[in-house]
Amino acid sequence: MIPIAFDNSYVRLPQRFYAAVAPTTVSAPRLIRLNAPLASELGLDLDWLKDPEGVAMLSGNGVPAGAAPIATAYAGHQFGGFSPQLGDGRAILLGELVDRHGRRQDLQLKGAGPTPFSRRGDGRAALGPVLREYIVSEAMAALGVPTTRALAAVLTGEAVRRETLLPGAVLTRVASSHIRIGTFQFFAARGDAEALRLLADHVIARHYPACTGDGRYLALLEAVIAAQAALVAQWMTIGFIHGVMNTDNMSVAGETIDYGPCAFMDTYHPTTVFSAIDEHGRYAFGNQPPIARWNLARFAEALLPLLADDQDEAVSIAQHALSQFDPQFQAGLTAGFRRKLGLATEEAEDVELIKALLETMQRGEADFTLVFRRLSEAAGQADSAAACRSLFANPAEFDAWEGRWRQRLSREPASAKARQDAMLRANPLFIPRNHLVEAAIQAAVERDDFTPFETLLGVLAKPFEAQPGREDHARPPAAHERVMATFCGT
Ligand code: AMP
Ligand code: MG
Repeated sequence: MIPIAFDNSYVRLPQRFYAAVAPTTVSAPRLIRLNAPLASELGLDLDWLKDPEGVAMLSGNGVPAGAAPIATAYAGHQFGGFSPQLGDGRAILLGELVDRHGRRQDLQLKGAGPTPFSRRGDGRAALGPVLREYIVSEAMAALGVPTTRALAAVLTGEAVRRETLLPGAVLTRVASSHIRIGTFQFFAARGDAEALRLLADHVIARHYPACTGDGRYLALLEAVIAAQAALVAQWMTIGFIHGVMNTDNMSVAGETIDYGPCAFMDTYHPTTVFSAIDEHGRYAFGNQPPIARWNLARFAEALLPLLADDQDEAVSIAQHALSQFDPQFQAGLTAGFRRKLGLATEEAEDVELIKALLETMQRGEADFTLVFRRLSEAAGQADSAAACRSLFANPAEFDAWEGRWRQRLSREPASAKARQDAMLRANPLFIPRNHLVEAAIQAAVERDDFTPFETLLGVLAKPFEAQPGREDHARPPAAHERVMATFCGT
């Protein structure tokens, strides 16, 4: 195999951080999708990746020179309950490489066979969840949201047993790291202060090099809080629902990670939940900010031994850091919605204006994405919000809100044209709508037809551009197309 310039820093940590484990081979790997622009960013040879040797790596059938395959150890709170031992049960980290921009990136196979952390699982992934993660993570990247990426998807030629037999697949995932809040919890739960310190120093060197000196662990805590606040604020401005915000699914690098039963909201409502396993709506759309704060409190708890020798002092340092989450999240959210509404300047009443629109949308059962897109289209002219108005079941209420918005816009210095251009860059026309994702998965799984998957990926690569002939990909689902539940499929 041709060597990839791996530089594996995680395996240089002590052995209790991971288990060395090779992927399990599969019988008939078939490459179904390769992300060419991402491969080139990573400095990987596209032709090699498509060749049998490359496909062998992407399916787990061959480990390239320089790789050091491991499954990492982590713990986590799942739906509020603590599991001291989770770990990569169906994911194997091949190694790290430094990309063209000098950024260190993990190359991980998801669905590559059992590891010592698999518990009762088979270590495998079904095609459906692999395609969902591919579509949604790449859509998030195109929308400008920090996220893990999808480099490739490969069919294994083997079936996996879920409720039925399904085609098995492997996703190659790229992330700036796979270190989770749960990774810290793993060592905290064992009282392993030495490992905590090593892990914290590793994360600082890798993600937050500005954290230096004696106060570096508090600086790390603050940096992770800021990154998560900014991330979740972005989710809330595009209608993204993660679905399983367990602490083992929250990256300390502030990237969206572990796409399971995730979905984008169509009709705006804060209680929207799709995940079939989220019976009580713990991870509903509107709960995401408080859940992120709750997860960060678990992160702060894990870091306590590093914050101060005295326990009470450590707690008060942690609490002060955590108190910054709400204002930082609010600032990120308000800035995001100001951009969406074409407001380049700041007025105190903007928060109220944003809130009023969301409440009007909720009462009017309006489509979240299209409302902002049509407002953008209407922003160039004085009185052309009819297309937006028609999205609301309560058009008179929308009219009143629109009047307030127009008044507010009259105090903006930008020209109508400049404002419209900025809004069209802030408000996507195309999001991975649930019914389209499901249709793409269904065609692939049931008919081995990857055309809808490819078409969808192509559309979502340019979410802010009108694409003639693709109008159907922008519209909300009709009543009979609506997807009520999503599954993690593990
Ligand atoms: P997740 O649903 O990604 O948050 O996974 C929760 C835990 O279950 C992690 O430790 C996973 O590695 C593990 N897991 C999920 N699916 C499987 C599977 N098919 N085989 C083995 N472990 C799994
Ligand atoms: Mg997970």
